[in-house]
Amino acid sequence: MKITPIEVEGYEKVAKAEDPESGLLAFIGVHDTTLGPALGGMRLWPYSDEQAALTDVLRLSRGMTFKSAVAGTGLGGGKSVIVARRDDKTPELFEAMGRFIDSFGGKYITAEDVNVGVDDLLHVRKSTKSVTGLPREMGGSGNPSPYTALGTFEGLKATAVEAFGTDDLTGKVVTLQGPGSVGFALGKSLVEAGARLIVADINKAALERAHNELGAEVVADDDIYDVECDIYSPNALGGTLNDETIPRLKCKAVAGAANNQLLDEGRHAAMIQQRGIVYAPDYVINAGGIINVSLELEPGGYNEEAAVARIRNIFDALQSIFETARKKSVTTHAAAQEVAEANLAQAAATA
Ligand code: NAD
Repeated sequence: MKITPIEVEGYEKVAKAEDPESGLLAFIGVHDTTLGPALGGMRLWPYSDEQAALTDVLRLSRGMTFKSAVAGTGLGGGKSVIVARRDDKTPELFEAMGRFIDSFGGKYITAEDVNVGVDDLLHVRKSTKSVTGLPREMGGSGNPSPYTALGTFEGLKATAVEAFGTDDLTGKVVTLQGPGSVGFALGKSLVEAGARLIVADINKAALERAHNELGAEVVADDDIYDVECDIYSPNALGGTLNDETIPRLKCKAVAGAANNQLLDEGRHAAMIQQRGIVYAPDYVINAGGIINVSLELEPGGYNEEAAVARIRNIFDALQSIFETARKKSVTTHAAAQEVAEANLAQAAATA
């Protein structure tokens, strides 16, 4: 396997791996380990070229630094991407990826992400110990999605307090984009709390399930931005808050689990604020999964009760961010960034 280091300003360690034998072409980005080893999932995606894969790993690993810094997981930010199609998945590919991860000497720890599941990680585990998110029976914390959904639900309630003065969701209309692993579980909690759900998805099966099991109303994919509602909850792809969609939103709050919701972070956070919409910063509200996984690395190992208690703190974390944003007249995105940077600076000062 050929491992090539890549110098990127502001990043601790970035490298590319090429392994002709298994067909592996992958990148690992370690953005910052001030707070601990860099933990972030492994994404498998048919990137159009190497530059696109590198850009993605850099963006995602930086996001993990801020997510963990606010959530207080004691972890740094990192991520890995494999350039491949789902059909290219083989045990050999993931074993080779394990060797690449192991070359980071524990500085990068992996977990599930888009197109990479527990079964794939079991192959990765054959060649490195730097793997989390393994099955419960192996001492791991299992699938993070239900925990991400729990944290997002708590965060959505804190957002409702900010926007409506109450966390009572009875009768509130929530437009939910992407009722997938996280979105469906979140939708279930919302319906149980008395909210009315309107969903959009590009996957027909996901829509049918949300309609049949949650009683959700279904709208066409792009129409979700035009629906009159109380809360818009993005749980599909990133970048759905942009120049084209923000002027169309007819909600009072945005609260969902999708990563990188703002296409252009600073500018689009300001646009949302100017429209009088409360925005729950994505990496704060969707930290339930990383919080859950982080418990695996604590002395004594994974403990679900402790994980759930910490995930519920997302409610308080968001309330404090909303308060800072109000007091300092900054966007909620800027207020979250301030918390992350303060935590990083404090750790660097005491190191
Ligand atoms: P998933 O693939 O299970 O669900 C995503 C859903 O969005 C799918 O039903 C998919 O069909 C739908 N979708 C994709 N493109 C769409 C589009 N253009 N319009 C409408 N729907 C579309 O993924 P997931 O694990 O539920 O993750 C959802 C989001 O949450 C992602 O942005 C992910 O990065 C983020 N996230 C997930 C976790 C986790 O624990 N799974 C943790 C943090 C953040």
